[in-house]
Amino acid sequence: CGIVGYIGHREAYPIVIKGLHRLEYRGYDSAGIALFDGKELNLCKTKGKVADLEAKFNGTTSKAGNVGIGHTRWATHGVPNDVNSHPHYSNSGNLVIIHNGIIENYSSLKKELIKRGYTFQSDTDTEVLVNLIEDVMINEDVKLGKAVQIALNQTIGAYAITVFDKRKQNELVVARLGSPLAIGIGENEFFIASDASPFIEFTNNAIYLEDGEMAVVRLGKEIKVRKIHDDTLVDPYVQELQLNLEQ
Ligand code: GLU
Repeated sequence: CGIVGYIGHREAYPIVIKGLHRLEYRGYDSAGIALFDGKELNLCKTKGKVADLEAKFNGTTSKAGNVGIGHTRWATHGVPNDVNSHPHYSNSGNLVIIHNGIIENYSSLKKELIKRGYTFQSDTDTEVLVNLIEDVMINEDVKLGKAVQIALNQTIGAYAITVFDKRKQNELVVARLGSPLAIGIGENEFFIASDASPFIEFTNNAIYLEDGEMAVVRLGKEIKVRKIHDDTLVDPYVQELQLNLEQ
């Protein structure tokens, strides 16, 4: 399973699709991509291979957009099918998430959210998390980064996540606990991925999040990394990648 994200000045679709292909070695049963073109958040997902996703995109879904998040799923909660594939929207349709890992306590969180009026399309733990983030945003009137942090502090489990809010088009929020997550730093563009292979031809500079860290990745800003549990700011180590593409 794997995650890929892009935010910047290029078309996101080709970068995300290629990135998902490069992460295929990690194993998966479904794939999906959400793209934001400045107005609409377009999503296409399917059980099957990344090649099946490309075929499904053709003719059904716009590939335009400078923000994109893509996912290959290895199902843990909910059978492999189109609906359970990621990305997942929140109820308002403003937030969209990709997640590798498991939210162990998703069932009690889901019951609480259902009491509060939330509805669910899929059987995944991930759709619970994105709605929990939305609920925190609304009830505590906090920004996306803070809401992700508060929500993650209510979860037990493992994750690499990327969250996008279509009202905040310059920003991706990422977090890691138990699943890898790298942030590639370009010039006025950022890449997110499970390992550096999806962005190696674009930049040599990357931050590897440590377990228990999250980052707000915003165009035109320094990346802010902090510890999810105690909120301490971390000075991120920017690693210089030395991968030889010819090998
Ligand atoms: N637990 C999530 C699901 O079943 C994510 C699985 C994964 O790591 O791909 O949808």
